[in-house]
Amino acid sequence: MGFEVDSANFQIENLVIVGSGPAGYTAAIYAGRANLQPTLITGLELGGIPGGQLMTTTFVENFPGFPNGVMGPELMDLMKAQAVRWGTYLIEEDATSIDLLKHPFSLKVGNLSIKTNSLIIATGARANRLGLINEDKFWNRGISACAICDGSTPQFRKENLAVIGGGDSACEEADYLTKFGSYVHLLVRSRNLKACAALQERVASNSLIKVHFEKELIDVEGDHWLKNLIVKNVKTGEIESLDVRGLFYAIGHTPNNELFKGQLSFDAKGYIKTEPGRPETSIEGVFVAGDVADSEWRQGVTAASSGCKAALSTERWLAKRKLYKLIIREKSINGTDINDLDDQIQLSNENNFQSDALWQKGSYALRRLYHESSKPLLIIYTASECGPCHVLKPQLKRVLNELEGRAQGVEIDIQNDEEISRQAGITGTPTVQLFKNKSLIKEWKGVKQKSQFREEIIKALAN
Ligand SMILES: Cc1cc2nc3c(=O)[nH]c(=O)nc-3n(C[C@H](O)[C@H](O)[C@H](O)COP(=O)(O)OP(=O)(O)OC[C@H]3O[C@@H](n4cnc5c(N)ncnc54)[C@H](O)[C@@H]3O)c2cc1C
Repeated sequence: MGFEVDSANFQIENLVIVGSGPAGYTAAIYAGRANLQPTLITGLELGGIPGGQLMTTTFVENFPGFPNGVMGPELMDLMKAQAVRWGTYLIEEDATSIDLLKHPFSLKVGNLSIKTNSLIIATGARANRLGLINEDKFWNRGISACAICDGSTPQFRKENLAVIGGGDSACEEADYLTKFGSYVHLLVRSRNLKACAALQERVASNSLIKVHFEKELIDVEGDHWLKNLIVKNVKTGEIESLDVRGLFYAIGHTPNNELFKGQLSFDAKGYIKTEPGRPETSIEGVFVAGDVADSEWRQGVTAASSGCKAALSTERWLAKRKLYKLIIREKSINGTDINDLDDQIQLSNENNFQSDALWQKGSYALRRLYHESSKPLLIIYTASECGPCHVLKPQLKRVLNELEGRAQGVEIDIQNDEEISRQAGITGTPTVQLFKNKSLIKEWKGVKQKSQFREEIIKALAN
């Protein structure tokens, strides 16, 4: 189970795709159907998570083919399954360095060195931060960059919250947060909202949102948790304090271009430069798709469309250069992760609880294992709409599987088990805690490499 990657398995690839958002998966579907047998590096932590930005949202209402909308994580799972079906080889790691100055191009991915004749860059973009003096202190203690992931945690319900920004994300997130009974201040630096008309309308008609125009956030205050925002009126210079318990950033994105600095041409904002509407970069054989080269449209469907163009161009380029060959892989992973889409495990109760099960759900299982089991216990706190949780759960299950029952896992949905989440001090999802003999050994927030969990569990087993 999982992605067994064997370095002996690697020869010179026809095509490596870096990034697993709509651009990367669409490129993989086209390249797979053209029999290029692409390898796709999904990313893990450095520039987002497997599945990309749509893993952090709820309903996607504008992707063609879904008349009733589709949940972002579900859409990305479907794209992934389609890419795998057409022979894409997935590696769930970050690419940490890429050399484009010599052909074949080379990449470092975890412990692997990969060589490839062509490359599609689809590394997307990531949310910006403000860099406030106290930002780090209150990060995950009241400040979040993802209302959809963290907004439903108990600490934010029925509280005064704030969203920073004036675009689509800011309006969507402010509206979303009011679903949990919260009152939301939307702080906009300029005189207008930049969001589309439909979202502006949604904000205007929501009595739980107050829009503050021409207001700039100067800093944040609190004790162990965020309490106040220090806000400046950009016109008058007047300073005021806003009493809020949660602050959500929606202030734009930075393209994930770090790996390519000094190798490719960028535009003035740092996006990878191409001829308008074309996927070729300044290096022959290197193509680009999606938000990393698009400061203007930045949508799922535009990213997917550019992924298609990049794959078709790559295929033509490889054919012209006579570089295409059949890739022989010792291990096929086709279909492996489609199984992860099925999450059939029921909530545990006194009838179905199993003291030796690898993975169970809910507070009943947690209480029993916490008190009765001497094995390391991995608890993941999730929320149904949390895309990163969706990415992390199969990783944790794989770690437990590899350890063959020497450790166990429990999943707690913070919406269903509000009280236990509050007692555990959970401030956002996903949060993972490792316990042994009732002692907390380690806590992780957000998506982390599989190896980190494995190493801590092995240490706990040894003690
Ligand atoms: C909250 C929110 C809501 C949105 N709602 C919508 C919507 O309703 N409809 C819509 O069309 N669009 C929506 N968008 C925009 C849409 O998500 C993006 O335009 C789209 O995801 C861009 O796709 P992409 O493939 O270019 O990049 P991304 O989705 O950003 O994916 C980039 C991928 O690259 C990977 N990566 C980065 N660095 C590395 C590395 N070093 N090694 C390996 N991998 C790496 C990341 O892990 C990630 O998998 C929304 C965005 C946000 C943030």
